[in-house]
Amino acid sequence: MMAVFLSSKHSDELPMASTDFQTVLEEIHQEVQPLIGQGEVASYIPELACVPGHKFGMALLTCDGQMFSVGDAAERFSIQSISKVLSLALAIQQVGTSLWKRVGREPSGSAFNSLVQLESEEGIPRNPFINAGALVVTDVILTELEEATQTVLNFVHRASGVNDIAFDDSIAASEKLAGYRNVALANFIRAFDNLDNEPADVLAAYFKHCSIAMSCEELAKAFMFLARNGTGITGEELLSAERTKYINALMLTCGTYDAVGDFAYRVGLPCKSGVGGGLVAVMPREFVVCTWSPGLDKRGNSLVGGHALDLLTSKTGISVF
Ligand code: GLN
Repeated sequence: MMAVFLSSKHSDELPMASTDFQTVLEEIHQEVQPLIGQGEVASYIPELACVPGHKFGMALLTCDGQMFSVGDAAERFSIQSISKVLSLALAIQQVGTSLWKRVGREPSGSAFNSLVQLESEEGIPRNPFINAGALVVTDVILTELEEATQTVLNFVHRASGVNDIAFDDSIAASEKLAGYRNVALANFIRAFDNLDNEPADVLAAYFKHCSIAMSCEELAKAFMFLARNGTGITGEELLSAERTKYINALMLTCGTYDAVGDFAYRVGLPCKSGVGGGLVAVMPREFVVCTWSPGLDKRGNSLVGGHALDLLTSKTGISVF
């Protein structure tokens, strides 16, 4: 077998543990300025349309506990689909790999709220991060856990170490009034016998999970367990290392819907987005980074957030690739 050694020149160029993340974040904040305000703030949830489009925050938390942040990183926003990662973690804790009988693990290649694949795939959603998949995950949680939605919120408290994070009832109510597509999805999945609970109950719980309000800094803390093999910021083991690996892989392959290929190419990190304009990305064993900018691109991912994460991994040379 032939040994292959890195030349010293190459290893000199590798990113060092001493990366000055604060300076990098400040550079990024400057460089994204011309883009801020571009993209469309989600308006299909009427309450979300009220959020000012010029907001931008970014927070990076290293695995050894250093927090770096710029802009509106301490301001809370609606995490929306980012909650799908946390509810998936709870569902996997409850039912393990039997979850995969009811939801797939492949990218969908279609919009996060699409109905089309469900017909030909007989009510088995492609993955847990599109809406259809998250509804099935929510159904599992409702069946397995008493006080299921409160347990999701408690998980957020335990994962982040921040106990006043809460649901935003006005956002949940707004989505309930206007969430016709999700109503259609839940009923369609129920028609294939892939929901055990009443669609209305699953939808009410799902809308609540999506309504959780958190800041970039709080999301970076809450997702730290995914960068630390399942151990959260408070030292509690929230998930096994094996299951942490599964969730990171799913974020990389399914976390940004029909833009996952583009995100893997540009950002090179497991990511999860939400239509509130948040994006969380995990660099296993190094850091968690979260951006918030409400303007969305055509696929429903934060336009400026995606650009900021691209700049971060390009400038530091740190990504899973
Ligand atoms: N609550 C939103 C919905 O179901 C979440 C979608 C998202 O963040 N991509 O449409």
